[in-house]
Formats: sequence, structure tokens, C-alpha cells
Amino acid sequence: MKHLPRLFLAFLTAFCLCTGCSAPAAQTEPVKTPESTAASETVSVPSQEPEMTDETDISTPEDIEKAKGGKPWPDSQMKENITEGMERSPKDNYYLYVNYDFHMDMKNGGKKKNTSKEIADEMLEVMQDDHSDNHAQQLVQQYYRAFTDWDTRNKAGLEPLRAVVEDIRDISTLDELTEFLSDPSRSINVPLLLRYVNYQEYGRSHNYTAAVYFRGWGELLLQDPHEYDAETRSEDTQLKYDKFKAESVYYLTGLGWSEADAVQAFENCIAAETAMCPELESLMDLSLHTYEEDAVSLYASANQIQEWMKNYPFKRIAEARGYGNAEEYYYTSEAYMRLLGDYYTEEHLEQLKAYHLITYLLAFGWTCDEESYLTSENALKDPDFERPEDHHVVFNKLKFYLPEAVDNAYLARYDQTKLRDAMLDFFREFKAIYHDMISEAEWMSDETKVQVLDKVDAMQLFTVCPEHLKEYEDLSFDGMNFAEIALETDRYQQLNAASLVGKEIIPDEYAWSVMSTLEDNARAFPEFDGLMFTLGILKDGGYSPDMSTEELYGVVGTVLAHEISHCFDENGARITKEGEVKDWWKEEDLEEFRKRVQKVVDFYDGITICEGVQANGSMISAEATADITGMQATLKLAEKQENFDYDEFFRSYAWLWRSDSSYKRDMMILKNDPHPLAYLRVNTVVQQFDEFYETYDVKEGDGMYLAPEDRIVVW
Ligand SMILES: [Zn+2]
Repeated sequence: MKHLPRLFLAFLTAFCLCTGCSAPAAQTEPVKTPESTAASETVSVPSQEPEMTDETDISTPEDIEKAKGGKPWPDSQMKENITEGMERSPKDNYYLYVNYDFHMDMKNGGKKKNTSKEIADEMLEVMQDDHSDNHAQQLVQQYYRAFTDWDTRNKAGLEPLRAVVEDIRDISTLDELTEFLSDPSRSINVPLLLRYVNYQEYGRSHNYTAAVYFRGWGELLLQDPHEYDAETRSEDTQLKYDKFKAESVYYLTGLGWSEADAVQAFENCIAAETAMCPELESLMDLSLHTYEEDAVSLYASANQIQEWMKNYPFKRIAEARGYGNAEEYYYTSEAYMRLLGDYYTEEHLEQLKAYHLITYLLAFGWTCDEESYLTSENALKDPDFERPEDHHVVFNKLKFYLPEAVDNAYLARYDQTKLRDAMLDFFREFKAIYHDMISEAEWMSDETKVQVLDKVDAMQLFTVCPEHLKEYEDLSFDGMNFAEIALETDRYQQLNAASLVGKEIIPDEYAWSVMSTLEDNARAFPEFDGLMFTLGILKDGGYSPDMSTEELYGVVGTVLAHEISHCFDENGARITKEGEVKDWWKEEDLEEFRKRVQKVVDFYDGITICEGVQANGSMISAEATADITGMQATLKLAEKQENFDYDEFFRSYAWLWRSDSSYKRDMMILKNDPHPLAYLRVNTVVQQFDEFYETYDVKEGDGMYLAPEDRIVVW
């Protein structure tokens, strides 16, 4: 995968995870709901395949035909290829051998365990506990109580939003709009056409800087600038457009506006966004950036930016949002800021007002009464809508808006320090293994080796729970209804992020501010030479304190080792131990590494998923390499164990990747996911290693057999 601009990656944790790209500070993202953000997704564990509704995922007779023809194995995670009583042997198709029962169970209506729901259920106890003197826990409880206090919410209706809505409505000149945007007591919760965040580029400075951006993806209502032409808009986006329109009209008419005025406001908002599109890149454009382009850091002073932006109150808003003292700003596009400056005129006053009005309502409307909440969920129009339990919703919102508070509340009740210490020990063992593997690599020069070893030795793991739980002492929800709590949380997080500018970046504090440990996720922080491995991912992998060593190695060890290996793969070779973006391997070593990865590419290119569909070697080679390297390291660690049960180990590994998929779903994954399909993450990985052949007595002629000269172990 190519590098994306670093700021862009802030909201793309799903891609960050395994690509070795850096990502700046977490930021509240008011227009999106937690569920819609990448923050709650992950790509390294089996549970994040594209979401499809049951309806769109029904197999047709054509699908069953099309699913056939895979080589050397049928795509064994497609339900179309699973039939009652099929033959299975570890020698021929290991994935199927281990996961056949799981697949039959899914076919018969079984459901895969949902660990996020399990943690949400545990959180319910925390949320209902009234006897805590832990402030973060009290905040979580207040948040939960206010969310579920539907009487109070329904009585208040949309009133909590009225003041801002009327304030914007009454603006009649550009100067008045400038006054409004420059006054935090009036507009701090209002989304802007240029967002202010803190930023860290650790290789350049160990202090946070300020940043301003508006990339489109994640900020534009329709996400992609190419969707602003109604003629060519995709069907999915049109549905989104209709939903936002209906929702906006619902809120505004609820606040006494006529329907015609409400529709006009929505259309004006879209007009403002449309005007910004010429200087915004689509996700596709962004993905085509080259590494060299993205390595260029852009910084400017406030005066410089103000000059580009003409009448747009750049400096005054910076002041209002807590960034007034920033000496410089990282920015993504001068052209965009110039465009916004040119647009900020009396002529576009109504569009500018409407943008701030509508995005504010869409960001906070759901926090009002029950009907507003259900409207925001599209529940009233969608006949298949199944309302999630309130505490699940609260849990998801908290993970997004107050990650450290929810971590604190959970961990104060369910102590995980032992698990953290065990994980840190495990991590140290892996580092020692990698140390040996790299030292032994004959193809790498000593010069590069010394540096790679240095980077591996210095690598940090942020896992399970932070050393110090953040208390949020200066945040209070006393006497507030739910909408007020949501607004206060947003204000608090914005100012808190701004207050960090100029301060020293403390890597572990930063990591825990970006992601809750209750998310099911792992993430690389190449800028700190670090990795994050959450409690959620451990739970999702089936971790339990009484699992055997073999199971632990199979479901946790291989994933941890996969992540570590990214620090010295082709992407890792572009970020130094200190977080500086530059090539630090000797050219010959990088060349040799690429040659070895090319073998991986060719190998996967030769795999047929089903008739006429090949695996895409160049798209998945980095992740496939990490899978193989992770397995190699784990097996080396296993060598040190007495009486290690390889059968149990390989089974646990194959079980981790069980994936109930379908022809349609796999076709989607093949288009977008830089990871190999799950059945390949099992079969093509285990067949590289002698231990597998010995355990199951695999011989030439067996489906799992690969001649030694055809194996593709990189290290
Ligand atoms: Zn990865």
C-alpha cells in the first residue's frame, strides 16, 4: 500500500495498523458518529470484513457456481464452498480441517461471538455502580444515566440546540458571522470548514504542534468530492444525502422552521461544500500519492496563513479554539485555504451560515430526545432497524469521545495489570527472537543490521492498560442533561487537544489518548518505534488467563509478532528509530529485501481464489510477509518450550482466522483489503514451515505440500 499523507491517516487507523505509517493526535470528529469512524475498526483480526446486511449477502445459484475453481484450495471461507460431510484432512486443506465445524455452525444459523458486546455488558456494571469515588468512573456513570434518562431528554426535546441555531439564523452580515465564529462561548461546538487540531511529527520535534486541515474524507457530509455532482452520484451516497436531508429538516422544523426554509438551509450547506470540492482530493486520489510527495512537511505561520485566507478569520478562530499561541501550523493544502478565503464573502453568507448550522445539527441532534436519536439512526425509515441496547450505544460513544475515561472506569473495576505485565514479558521474548533472526540473516549487510537491531531493541509496546489512568479531574457533568454533556465533552476535548500544543509528546500518553484499550485493535506507531495492542484485541482473539502456552502462541503470539515485523519491513525501512521519515537501510539491502518480497508477490499471484479470480500479490505482499515472518518468529520461540504441542498451536492459529464469508464478500475484500483472505492467512503461512510438515506428516502430492525450493520465507 502506498503512503498516504500523514495527517490524512489520523482517521484511518484501519489502514495505519499494518502499514507502518504515522498518525497524528486524536481529535473529536463531531459530524461522524463513533460507529462510522475508522477508530473503531481494525484490519488485523478476522472480524473486520466489509459489513454486508444479511439481505445483500444471500448466495444465488450463480454465486455457488462462481465460487468454484480455487487452486490449490477452494476458497474455504466462502459459505458457497462448504457442504455437509465434505472430506477434510490437515494434509490437504488445513484451514478447512480446523474450521469446518465452525462453518457448518454458521450455515445453520450460528453467530460468531461478539466480544465488543461482551465488554459492553461488563461495562454496564461499571455504569450502574453508584458507589465509586473515582472521578473518571463517575463521569462514565453520569454519561450513561443521562443517556438513558429518556424522560428528561424527551422533555427537553431539541431545546439544548436552540440557542446556537437561532444565533446563526440571526446573523445578517459577514462581520457578524466572523464575530460568531470568533467567540468560543457561542460557537465552540460548531464544525468549521477548516479544522484545528494538535499534531505530532516526532521525527521533527518532540513537542506537539498545531495543524489545520480539511481533506474532505471524514469532513464532507458526502465524504468524497466526486459525489457532489448529483448526476453522477453513487446510489449509496444518494441514500446518505437523502438521510442527512431528512434529518436536517426534522431538526429544523422541530425548532419552528418552515419546511421550505429547512430544505433551503440543507441545500445551501451542500452548496458550500460543493464550492470547496475543487481543492479536495478523493480517497482514490489520496491513495495514489507517492511516498516522496508525502514526505514533504508543510508548515506556515499564522500570519502567512491569514494572508492566504483573506477575510476568513483564521487567526481569530485559532484564538477562540485555543490555538492562539501556536508558532506554526502544519497544513495539508495551501490551495484549499486560499479557496476558502476567496469564498468567505458577503455573497456566500447564506451558504456559509447553512454549513455551520447543518453540520452542528447533524453532529449533535442525536443527543436530544428519543425521536431525534432514532431519526439520526434512520430508525424511523428503515423497516429492518434493530435498536441496539442503550448501554451498547453508550459504550461505543464513550470509547470514541472519552476513551481514557472509559478505560479508567473499566480498569478500575477489572484490574488487568497482571495481563499487561505478562504481555510485556511476551513482547520482550519476541524482541529477543527477532534479534536472533535478524543477526542470522545472511543477505543483510552488517551496517544495516546494526541499525535494524537497534530499532527492534528500542521498540516499545503499549498494551492492555496505561501506566497512569487519566482522571479528567477538570471535566464535570454535574446537573447536565445528555445533550449538554455531549456538548461539554466536545468543548473539553477540543480545548484539551489545543492545550497540548508546544508541550512535550509523551509516547504512551499519546497512544492511550488515540485509542481506548477496549477497542478491538492493534496499531503501529512507527514515529515512536512503538506498537499498541489493546485488551479488546486480546479478548477478541479468545485470550483467557488459563489458556495453554500453545493457544497463547497461536492466537496472540503470531499477531504480536506480525506487528513487530512491520518495524523492519519495506515501510519500516522508511522511518528511523527516532521517527524521522527517511531511507535508512543500505540501498543493496533494500533491493535484496524487495527481491525476496517479489517472490511473495509471485507466489500469491499464482493462487486462484475461484474460477477467473487470482489473488493480488502486489496488493497483499506486505501483510502476507508479516504473517509469514510472525509465524517464523513464533515457531522460533516455541523451540524454547519443552514438549510444545504443535498440533494444538497450529489449530489455535487456524481457529483465530476462521471467517464466515461468502462469494460476494470475498470479492469486496479482494478489491480493498491489503491482507490476504483468511483461509490463505492460514494455509499459505503454515505450509512454509517444517514444523507443520512434521506435525501432520505432509508429503509430496498432499494439498498442503510445497517443495522446499518454492517456499517464500523472507527472513
Ligand atoms: Zn500488518
